Amino acid sequence: MKIDILTIFPDFFRGPLDYGIVRRARETGLVEIIIHDLRAFTKDKHRTVDDRPFGGGEGMVLKPEPIFECLESFGDVAPRKVRMRPGAKQSVILLSAQGRRLDQMLAAELAALSQTEKGRIVLICGRYEGVDERISDYLADREVSIGDYVLSGGELGAAVIMDAVTRLIPGAVGNQNSTRQESFTEFAGEGARDTQGDGPSSTCVSGGLLDYPHYTRPADFRGMAVPEVLMNGNHDQIRNWRRKTALAKTLLNRPDLLDRVALTAEDTELLEQIRFEQVELDAIRRQDILRDGASPVSTKDQK
Ligand code: SAH
Repeated sequence: MKIDILTIFPDFFRGPLDYGIVRRARETGLVEIIIHDLRAFTKDKHRTVDDRPFGGGEGMVLKPEPIFECLESFGDVAPRKVRMRPGAKQSVILLSAQGRRLDQMLAAELAALSQTEKGRIVLICGRYEGVDERISDYLADREVSIGDYVLSGGELGAAVIMDAVTRLIPGAVGNQNSTRQESFTEFAGEGARDTQGDGPSSTCVSGGLLDYPHYTRPADFRGMAVPEVLMNGNHDQIRNWRRKTALAKTLLNRPDLLDRVALTAEDTELLEQIRFEQVELDAIRRQDILRDGASPVSTKDQK
């Protein structure tokens, strides 16, 4: 797979390309990542990439010409209408706060392009007040946001997409099963819910929930013990514990995900247990507060 990144700050990518899975994937030729300096596609002596907005207003806008010309210099990018068809092999993405929000399903969809001949992703990084809208209207086939906040440029977003996609390319991660077991992964393609296999490593896929908690040695760190169940070698119990803790964490941090996944009868039962235990825990906490004489009102309010 080829990933092209169009930016006015090419040096920005020195770090993100040079570590871990992304570095290895580049070195082994699974992915080729090319950074293009948009200033190389300007024609004036100041190498101007931005201009004032029509209609007035704050800030500057990235001009369309360098971006169009950079993309055209590749020579082999499919026309936009071909890229917009289902099953397209290439995607030209404009990073934008106004875009579709990146999630694991979109990352998997983009990584699937790596399986096709000529699979290619082009990431266009905006700056200033944004990019001339004609990029979105006539050049990019989609706009992608990495979250509901405004960044000062698309480079961090491009790095995030590049990383999330690269680690899903078959062969990028040593054990392919590990990317199937991760948070959100029900949405990430076939086999993601496959629970067959031996040993605890294959006994709990996230199935669209958050991942279960992980521990390593030492078993006792400063009096903080690893859950006993993980040490007894009973794979059924381990699987059950992992599913339950994944459900508990999802309920606590991302309850919205629970509405989107297909829960089994066992999951529903575990969720009931979790909710019941939570109520009990809250009651114990309240009793502790009353017993210790501490008021639930903050000390600041008491003064
Ligand atoms: N005026 C724009 C923000 C421009 S920020 C607005 O209000 O929506 C400048 C550039 O940063 C954008 O062109 C885009 O490329 C990038 N950017 C900002 N926030 C982003 C986000 N959440 N996701 C992806 N890219 C983002």
